Amino acid sequence: MSNSQQHITIIDVSPRDGLQNEPEILPVATKVALVRRLVEAGVPWVEVGAFVNPRQVPQQAGTTEVAMALTDDETARFTCLIPNMRGYELAAAAGMRHVRLVLAASESLNQANFKRSVNDSLEDFAHIVAQAARDGVAFGVAIGASFGCPFEGAVAPARVLNLVCKAVDLGATEIILADTTGMGAPTQVARICGEALSLLKQQADLTVHFHNTRNTGYANAFAAWQVGVRRFDASLGGIGGCPFAPRAVGNIATEDLVHMFYGMGVCTGIDLGKLLDASNWLAAQLGRPLPALVGKAGPVYHTC
Ligand code: ZN
Repeated sequence: MSNSQQHITIIDVSPRDGLQNEPEILPVATKVALVRRLVEAGVPWVEVGAFVNPRQVPQQAGTTEVAMALTDDETARFTCLIPNMRGYELAAAAGMRHVRLVLAASESLNQANFKRSVNDSLEDFAHIVAQAARDGVAFGVAIGASFGCPFEGAVAPARVLNLVCKAVDLGATEIILADTTGMGAPTQVARICGEALSLLKQQADLTVHFHNTRNTGYANAFAAWQVGVRRFDASLGGIGGCPFAPRAVGNIATEDLVHMFYGMGVCTGIDLGKLLDASNWLAAQLGRPLPALVGKAGPVYHTC
């Protein structure tokens, strides 16, 4: 087994995707504490927030303050979600050195989320990435509804792969294929991820982003890993969901994903004990038990 097969990168998105669907709005200091706990547990990348209109997503108010409290921290790499130029400008001003532009593979979800067509999103991106190049900010492109749309149903793989090519042409260093509402099946995930990897030819990293809406999130992550994907978004405690997509529920849980990979002998660089402590702390902050299961049952595998 080569080294690349024994190590994966996990990007924890709980401060962004996780919190945005919570009824509670956590104070900035609590969000900063969450990011710090993730970093202390060894999580290599954290999506610290979204630079979006706080009237539309009130849970993401204060992302500037969160980012400004964190950018001096060199122990982890941070990214954030931005839907448009305004979001980019706020992120760059807050010192972010990596951003994730986001659109959806289906017109309906793109309209619901961003109030514009997919082509209009791509046109906006061209302006944003020109500015990002001047600023020295690297960027990824997240493609929502890559494995199905809550409004349209099936999304043609050709549509997703076409967007992958366009994102690479824009200069993205990372492509994120997102199953926004947990509609993907493992065989479909394997097929699309396999094709995306061969299209990318290592010009950009491929990250997958699964929700466990229908309990297929971990099987989908395994299917992606089997075809060679080595980067996975996940959310501490399994919190999360898209506020603009009906019946969206949480991301796959970071601790459960880490535990699954440890059982497979795949390293993540993450201290599972510290991660479980962070998850317990987050449950206390939110005042409810979280969907993740390994903390409840107790881990079987503690390391790779
Ligand atoms: Zn998501």
